[in-house]
Amino acid sequence: MSNAPNEPVAATNFIRNLIDADLAAGKYAQRRWCGRPGVASEQLAGALDPAKIRTRFPPEPNGYLHYGHAKSICLNFGLARDYGGRCHLRFDDTNPEKEEQEYVDSIIDAVRWLGFAWENEGESNLYFASDYFDAMFACAETLIEAGHAYVDSQSADAMRAHRGTLKQAGKNSPFRARSSAENLDLFRRMRAGEFADGTHILRAKIDMASPNINLRDPAIYRIRHATHHNTGDTWCVYPMYTFAHPIEDALENVTHSICTLEFEDQRPFYDWLLARLAEGGLFQRPLPQQIEFSRLNLTYVVLSKRKLIQLVDEKHVAGWDDPRLPTLAGARRRGYAPEGFCLFAERIGVSKSDSLIDYALLEEAMREVLNESAPRRIAVLDPLKLIIDNYPAGQSETCFAPNHPLKPELGKRAMPFGGELWIEREDFMEVPSKGYRRLFPGNMARLRYGFVVKCTGCDKDADGNVVAVHCDYLPDSKSGSAGADNYKVKGNLHWVSVAAGYASEVRLYDRLFAYPAPGSWREDAPGTAGSPARDGEVNERNFIDDLNPDSVKVITAWLEPALRQASPEERFQFERHGYFVADRIDSKHGAPVFNRTVTLKDTQNKS
Ligand code: ATP
Ligand code: MG
Repeated sequence: MSNAPNEPVAATNFIRNLIDADLAAGKYAQRRWCGRPGVASEQLAGALDPAKIRTRFPPEPNGYLHYGHAKSICLNFGLARDYGGRCHLRFDDTNPEKEEQEYVDSIIDAVRWLGFAWENEGESNLYFASDYFDAMFACAETLIEAGHAYVDSQSADAMRAHRGTLKQAGKNSPFRARSSAENLDLFRRMRAGEFADGTHILRAKIDMASPNINLRDPAIYRIRHATHHNTGDTWCVYPMYTFAHPIEDALENVTHSICTLEFEDQRPFYDWLLARLAEGGLFQRPLPQQIEFSRLNLTYVVLSKRKLIQLVDEKHVAGWDDPRLPTLAGARRRGYAPEGFCLFAERIGVSKSDSLIDYALLEEAMREVLNESAPRRIAVLDPLKLIIDNYPAGQSETCFAPNHPLKPELGKRAMPFGGELWIEREDFMEVPSKGYRRLFPGNMARLRYGFVVKCTGCDKDADGNVVAVHCDYLPDSKSGSAGADNYKVKGNLHWVSVAAGYASEVRLYDRLFAYPAPGSWREDAPGTAGSPARDGEVNERNFIDDLNPDSVKVITAWLEPALRQASPEERFQFERHGYFVADRIDSKHGAPVFNRTVTLKDTQNKS
């Protein structure tokens, strides 16, 4: 692979093509920027916008970010980086419910952890949409004054009944003909708190017969007597998302507003709204453009905040940063590398067609990044004692193992060797199976970075379980010595000195769900009623039923002494096993606890 993880190669895609064309045409070259979000009168007083493009990542702070968000972050921040632009981190916090500071903090952490920044040359593009409530209110007033919005006082039921269907046009509200003056008065009284929730609503005046239902006079402001995490009780009217979002983009001079496909049908309203507001003098042209791409769907996980909240609330996982959870906080604890997400995002690309990506692809990207960056260490996960009968009693010596086979400049570390070692239980067979090359009575194998040994037998307990393996070593076979090449052996085992190694907790994580599409219909699901979904129909089971009961196994492993010094979040390859990270929460100084990030090979994907 030529895509080195640290230098993302811009694979071209339809969004890049569009930006290339916009830049070639100089489409956004004359926009002005006063250094902060604002309406046209403020922006036009500024200099030419130094940013060639502006994108944004606009999470709603109502949950932790998941792997799907990583795709959006890599895309938006990546485009800004590659095109001399800026990417804003904007908290889309216009909804007074559900939003919490904890989520804001976790989102900031996650974006930074992925390696992106919103500060550029003195500009800090971190914004809260709720700071724009005044501007949004002014936009609504502008629409009302120009006859493009009206206060509807129908009941919710009546409004629904008048909306029509895909095949049938809607009907005009009896309040649609209110004068601008009356609308303005009512809207201001809505704001002043004179009315109860749901009694009036501000709607855009477009076309109740439009084939696009989103254009049938969509609601743009509602009454909601609720306390907002940022603005407190200042407001009792709140903008609808589809009204707020285009305005946020326009205030921030966003050029390319990239979102997921479910907003495609909203694009005509996005364009209608900004065009009306530009006519009203509120925004400079050219206006931001909305571009949709398909969201990330991954096998074996769920990528929806609602479902993730359920997993946390019902304690199916230990918390938002449980290493099994597909949140970025979980990924970090799991040992996934931020560069791995960027590499993965490059590889899967962006398109407009929905697809389900194999989880193995994400794991492969992580392996690739970690193979480059992670130092090697030795851990015995399923220990069995190996006794070297001819090794002088009380003696010990030092072997040297390279820290990274691809990077000799990282040097070697000392590994104490002695007469008793821990080896993996699977590296001995009393009666070898066909082709088995490791230890069995009479066979020779190499203790990696150490000596060649010849197996002589084993000890068993009363139940016949093997409790120790015996061998003799060949003193002139030490790795790196002149005699090392005299022995041609096929088996090559890792080991840890019983005297110098230490026991430590290691968590072996596996997939959180046992099935590729959690909660969807499948033939063999116990108690599944119904049949596979037909076109456009969802036939969902409870995704909780598809949890993998064995998604974590906690073991006590024997580790080489150098691992005691590992600092939290340090990642290693445990030779022959996979990549592991020192847990950032549970590790104590001098006593790190390790999480398995990913195995060396994809052993789970044999379907
Ligand atoms: P969820 O559906 O999980 O609740 P959301 O879309 O409501 O997610 P937001 O906080 O609104 O979450 O999302 C912020 C940005 O991340 C949006 O631009 C959204 O399109 C993008 N995004 C969310 N989920 C995905 C995904 N699975 N793949 C790609 N982008 C995503
Ligand atoms: Mg959302």
